[in-house]
Amino acid sequence: MSEKELICSFCGLSKVQTNLLVAGQEAHICDSCIEQAYGIVVEEAKKNETEVSNDEPKIAKPKEIKAFLDNYVIGQDQTKKIISVAVYNHYKRLYQKKGKTDVEIEKSNVLIAGQTGTGKTLVAKTIARMLNVPLAIVDATVLTEAGYVGEEVETILTRLLQSADYDQSKAERGIVFIDEIDKIARKSDNPSITRDVSGEGVQQALLKLLEGTVVNVPPKGGRKHPDQKFIELNTQNILFIAGGAFDGIEKIISKRMNMQVVGYKNSIKISKNEIKNILSYISPQDLKQFGLIPEIIGRLPVLTHMNNLDKTALRSILTEPKNAIIKQYKKLFEMDGINISFSDDGLDHIVEKALQYKLGARGLRSICEIVLSDAMFEFPGTNRKKLMIDKKYIEGKLSKSKLNMLKVAS
Ligand code: ADP
Repeated sequence: MSEKELICSFCGLSKVQTNLLVAGQEAHICDSCIEQAYGIVVEEAKKNETEVSNDEPKIAKPKEIKAFLDNYVIGQDQTKKIISVAVYNHYKRLYQKKGKTDVEIEKSNVLIAGQTGTGKTLVAKTIARMLNVPLAIVDATVLTEAGYVGEEVETILTRLLQSADYDQSKAERGIVFIDEIDKIARKSDNPSITRDVSGEGVQQALLKLLEGTVVNVPPKGGRKHPDQKFIELNTQNILFIAGGAFDGIEKIISKRMNMQVVGYKNSIKISKNEIKNILSYISPQDLKQFGLIPEIIGRLPVLTHMNNLDKTALRSILTEPKNAIIKQYKKLFEMDGINISFSDDGLDHIVEKALQYKLGARGLRSICEIVLSDAMFEFPGTNRKKLMIDKKYIEGKLSKSKLNMLKVAS
């Protein structure tokens, strides 16, 4: 067949009538048929997508969720497992077919107890990132009950709406991380003796959100006033994760367990090491004694804890997570064509300083910032393309810094 006689096997146009004729094994296709066919492919794919999402969307399995968390959160294995299951169950509940069952799965809101800087917020952020759902991070200490100075509890939902770009249905499937939940504990387990109005009042107000209710949310936040338009949000499918340090709860736990390092009769003998991890024995009863009201505890049924980060964990946090601090600095320098490397003794020294000044994981970044700020100022635009950070370099920079001040601020 001559060039001229070639035709598109789909529309029959001859080669000269087309811009392009692509040859297959025993057929040809012209550019406009390719375009049309592509359109059909896209349409079909869209259709399939909506069909799938109307049906049951694929929910990541607990092991997949945990594996994703492993990429970002170092250690805390037990908690990562517990949270993976809670998140899995939460989304299973969400996509449970209505009317098909009379078993109503209850919400699996989570409470994480652990010192600050151990990764509680990071876990919530990572879960939200994985699920691609909006996340609001709020501090319980700024919340007050209606009528008091501070933010009303509904503003939590304003944040969530903002994070969902004001998409109501997205917000209704989002995650809210409430930090410092321990700070709204009432001051005593006995409500009749020390009634601490603000703490308990906020807990009561939170309760409604946790159990699932429809709230009129002021989209721009602030105090409710009559002429403001509200967006209705149902909190039933929002996953709440609460975090807190619960300073002093160790005493409550050990008392309950009748623990003694050197055991008396009837007491449980535990090693010094276990004392350090006493938080792992935390129970709802301890939270009640700490000052959370039983209803709130009941609405945060998944209770877990974060271990304190030791030397090994801090060292890993510096370099291992997908967006580890050291990787981020390397990237920043690389963008100026500068190759920065860190010696092992240098990395160890950063960890030692973070521990020495009780700065935890948060301190790692502050220390790196102090160590590298001169270089980040001096290097760009010069011919210097290599920088080695070792213990000596770090000591030099830290000796001139006000690392002590960080300790006070933390
Ligand atoms: P918390 O909410 O417990 O106070 P964050 O989650 O805000 O602590 O952690 C503070 C910083 O420390 C974050 O920048 C995070 O990257 C880092 N970090 C804390 N714990 C871990 C961890 N287990 N794995 C990786 N990074 C961590």
